[in-house]
Amino acid sequence: MEDVFKQDVVAELKGRVQEAQRVVITAHRSPDGDAIGSSLALQHLLARVDVPSQVVMPDGYPDFLNWLPGQDDVQFHDVDPEVCESSLLEAEVVFCLDYNAPSRAGGLGPAVANAASQEGTYVVVIDHHQQPEEFADLLLSDPLTGSTAELIYRLTLAWDMADDIQADMASCLYCGLITDTGSFRFSSVTPQTHAMAAHLLGTGMDHSKVHSLIYDACRLDQIRLTSYALGQKLQVFPEYHSAIVSLSLDELMRFNAQKGDTEGLVNRALSIEGIRFAVFVKEDVDRVKMSLRSTGSFSVRDVAADHFNGGGHHNAAGGACPGESLDSVVSRLIGLLPSYAAQLQDEG
Ligand code: 5GP
Ligand code: MN
Repeated sequence: MEDVFKQDVVAELKGRVQEAQRVVITAHRSPDGDAIGSSLALQHLLARVDVPSQVVMPDGYPDFLNWLPGQDDVQFHDVDPEVCESSLLEAEVVFCLDYNAPSRAGGLGPAVANAASQEGTYVVVIDHHQQPEEFADLLLSDPLTGSTAELIYRLTLAWDMADDIQADMASCLYCGLITDTGSFRFSSVTPQTHAMAAHLLGTGMDHSKVHSLIYDACRLDQIRLTSYALGQKLQVFPEYHSAIVSLSLDELMRFNAQKGDTEGLVNRALSIEGIRFAVFVKEDVDRVKMSLRSTGSFSVRDVAADHFNGGGHHNAAGGACPGESLDSVVSRLIGLLPSYAAQLQDEG
């Protein structure tokens, strides 16, 4: 594999960052554990070379991520748009982590695009999604890597700063690592991923506590919503090895759903014996949002990109349909299954 962190490139980046007075770190809309974990990890790393930075998120993240070291100073665009936009306007270096197109940054997207077109702002993308848009001054993209956290770790090594990884930074990296690899399950995990985990544990961080904070903090309402979704709203199409779960805004409200409550649902659908393609479809205020998952050679990135304005990874992707009803999206999805029958049949 070609190393995206070439010595001359990373050395130049380090120089630029060290000269900068104002560095901003951004991630994608609806930040997940990798988005916020790698952002805060990079902030910890930059602090080690006395570079202050500001983390700016398009919007909030789920409560189960509400413990990450360094999170208290994060700015949120949906709460303070002007503050966030002026942070980006004044920045000399803007990092875009875990996304590869300004549109993925939601309300913050125009400010990111503006930063990219501005002379005095150096925009750096560090990401692991396929087919990056070309908008940044520097693109460090590796779709074969399982998490952006792993890329931040590789950047740390390339900057010769392995010994600067303290327990707080390690917890942030570990959060990104486990949330994006299904706790080391996905095929993207390599010996290097485990070597990274070994290094992080060696800093004294409490990995067991991190797992607990992320995965053992379910509210009772969330458990009941999960039971309802799987009990009443799961549609299985054995002939297409497919499963679909959908929830309307009404249903979500009935269970007092909060951000992140439905995150594991699509994986439960995929875990059914014989299922190779699973989709969770959720009605939102301004759009219908989808989470797509697959096993093996079937590309949900292609399904999302071809039919649902989305993208992501080969086996884990997302899409969004603004202005379309939940029923229409679900019907469209069911209608597509026959066209994928051969691809879904392929593997044993
Ligand atoms: P999730 O289903 O966990 O929200 O997302 C799965 C993967 O697809 C993530 O890597 C995420 O970044 C990507 N993804 C989610 N939603 C979208 C979307 O609307 N557009 C694109 N391009 N990627 C998405
Ligand atoms: Mn990621």
